[in-house]
Amino acid sequence: MVPSPVSPLAFRSVTFASSSPTTSFRGSLANYGRSATILHGELYGILVAALFATSSPSTPPLPIYSDHLNAVSVLNDALQHPPLPHSWSSLPARSLYRWILSVLSSSHPSPPLLHIHAHTTATDPASLANHHADHLASSAHNLSIPPPPVPLPTFTMDRFTPYLPPFQYIDSHLPTFLLSLLASHAFYDSSFVPLRTLAPTLYDLHPPPPHPYTRASSSFSAVVQLYTRSAHLPTNLTMATRFQDRSMLCRFHCQSLEDAHHIFVNCPTFQHLWDEYSGSLISEVEGTLMHSILPPSMLEHILSVATHLFRDDSSWPLQSSRFYLGLLPPLLPTTVTYQTLPGTSHRLLSRIACSCHLHAIRLAARIWGSVLRHHLSSSSKPVARGPSTRESLLRDGHLTLPPHLTYLLHI
Ligand SMILES: [Zn+2]
Repeated sequence: MVPSPVSPLAFRSVTFASSSPTTSFRGSLANYGRSATILHGELYGILVAALFATSSPSTPPLPIYSDHLNAVSVLNDALQHPPLPHSWSSLPARSLYRWILSVLSSSHPSPPLLHIHAHTTATDPASLANHHADHLASSAHNLSIPPPPVPLPTFTMDRFTPYLPPFQYIDSHLPTFLLSLLASHAFYDSSFVPLRTLAPTLYDLHPPPPHPYTRASSSFSAVVQLYTRSAHLPTNLTMATRFQDRSMLCRFHCQSLEDAHHIFVNCPTFQHLWDEYSGSLISEVEGTLMHSILPPSMLEHILSVATHLFRDDSSWPLQSSRFYLGLLPPLLPTTVTYQTLPGTSHRLLSRIACSCHLHAIRLAARIWGSVLRHHLSSSSKPVARGPSTRESLLRDGHLTLPPHLTYLLHI
């Protein structure tokens, strides 16, 4: 049979075969959908061999050979000592095990079930028969007319077995299957943030300086970065998408959607901040590089990175600046690797990465702080003298809530 794919959710095609001295049979597990596994194929092969053996008139019954050692052990143990319910509940493909056991138990005496090594050069009849069955199963994938699909043993399944097309009945590894399904749904959900914003291997791999994250008394920079990375920064686009209570356009009157990238990279309102932080960073990087022994082409590349750190530029992966997420573009040209540089250059590059990172997160914090101050100044209005009642606040427009919470004002 063709090995099952690694992902539990991917399409698979499993065929199996079984041979007796007079008959051969091969079938497909198409009815199992995407829940078909190699184990199902091996067990179905044993099942058909058991039906051959128990229907044969020979006495004593013919032995059954399988190259699946675990299945042979489980079945022989179960014939000696019937498993307890809790053992069944964690056994993959248990419906087929139950079916095989019922077939074997119905014959007196039961045909012996023996293990045979696969893929050997042995020439005894059992090894040759196993090789023949393997060949029948694997060659079935090349047939223009596929082998017949075998039925599902719904009559030996658990009383409650999950069913979900195209996976059909799921009687093996349910927790693993559910986790894979959940991960798949999350990955292909367009609102799944890491899919849209983060591909860390594309960016500079120097670790960020720990100080602003672990020692700063006010971790505003870190909080802005956390909210931005998790798509929770309350930009107009985010808030309008959730509450449908405002325009999605930039609050500073740009004809552009107000998302994080616009605010931190494109909004002309913050031109003076970009100029200030860019100038400071360039002079710091130039000072660090003053006595370096790096080749001129690398110096030029690093200065270009520092110059365009806060702008969409070809030095950034996808030509899109992500400085506000705490990311940096690669500090070295793609033709140079770190391993070819001397140790002193590693320290130099770490210092430059630290300078770039600190300037980036401070600039992001300054920009978002300005946005918040603008929001507060534009939303604050003089409050009427005298005691404020709920009705007066409502009437004068001092108390506003998102639409989904306005019912609270009328309770
Ligand atoms: Zn703007």
